[in-house]
Amino acid sequence: MISVQHLTKTYYNADGSSLTVLKDINCDIQKGEVISIIGPSGTGKSTFLRSLNLLDPPTGGRILVDGEDILAKGYPVHKLRQKMGMVFQNFNLFEHMTVLENVMYAPVKILKEDKQQARDEALALLKKVGLVEKADVYPASLSGGQKQRVAIARALAMKPDAILFDEPTSALDPTMVGEVLSVIRQLSKSGLTMLIVTHEMRFARDVSTRIFFMNEGVIYEDGTPEQIFEHPVHSATKAFVQRIQKLVFEIGSDDFDYLQIHTGINRFCLKYNLTQGEHAYALIKEVLFTHMRNIRPLTLRMTHAELSGVTTVDFMVENLDHSPLNDAARDSLRPQVKDLIEEPTKRGFRVKLII
Ligand code: ADP
Ligand code: MG
Repeated sequence: MISVQHLTKTYYNADGSSLTVLKDINCDIQKGEVISIIGPSGTGKSTFLRSLNLLDPPTGGRILVDGEDILAKGYPVHKLRQKMGMVFQNFNLFEHMTVLENVMYAPVKILKEDKQQARDEALALLKKVGLVEKADVYPASLSGGQKQRVAIARALAMKPDAILFDEPTSALDPTMVGEVLSVIRQLSKSGLTMLIVTHEMRFARDVSTRIFFMNEGVIYEDGTPEQIFEHPVHSATKAFVQRIQKLVFEIGSDDFDYLQIHTGINRFCLKYNLTQGEHAYALIKEVLFTHMRNIRPLTLRMTHAELSGVTTVDFMVENLDHSPLNDAARDSLRPQVKDLIEEPTKRGFRVKLII
């Protein structure tokens, strides 16, 4: 359906300098594929999507859509926009129109659909994304998650063959990520071709038929979710997919700021959608004030591996050659955790709780 050959994009700045963002992109995308594009920020993921639907015309290479060269002079851009919808990070709804008007607008204006028909179809789409009740309100009264679901319904209203999503959940409060992902998940089963730029690794692994890992302006690795996440060929891919989020506190004395720790843990858990926040905090209090109360200073660390979903809390003490825990501490902690690991490190000793 889409064939990209030696695509390049260079931005020329006013001061005469230039920046080549897409270096040599090549790929063939078949109808019905669900492709997640992952990779560090600044590597050209958005630029690639914007090139595909000509929001930002490329500087070199070829893009064929259904066999037609969309970069050829005279190719009708409106035809492409109908075939390929786009959903942005910041929703881009028309604020002066109601939800229903937002969804009906393009079908009436561009596809010249009959108003009643467009209305019926728009209501059906709003039903599909769970927002039919909001048909007559203005976007300003919706939450971010609801706005994004309207944006998805609006893209679907053009009956596109493909939808491009550019980080559809990254502007959302973490509590609203799930509702948007579940709408996209549902669409992924409908045969629609989808390209999704996302930082949600587990979602990407679960919904995609294929993953592009983009790095430094090229598709660095292209494969099935299994290949990319379980057996990446390149070390850069491996480092990216296996990255671990960390939160660190230095506990110098007993007068440490426990409120700061509490808030920090809650924020961390909200950000990565973890439900163990209070459990983690209770364990930390127990260890700091009971089992390791005589041990200062120490470093407290919480980690979360996005892909495997493993969350840990660990306590690292320098210049200690044995475990600070006694049997009573072990008996108390073991039933509360998935695993308790006591291990020497290069600089001291670590107690690690897998929660
Ligand atoms: P990603 O989506 O992977 O984070 P982008 O495609 O947004 O990356 O951007 C890639 C690079 O291109 C960045 O260094 C960015 O600053 C630059 N860039 C993006 N848009 C423009 C623009 N309109 N003019 C100049 N540079 C741009
Ligand atoms: Mg981007």
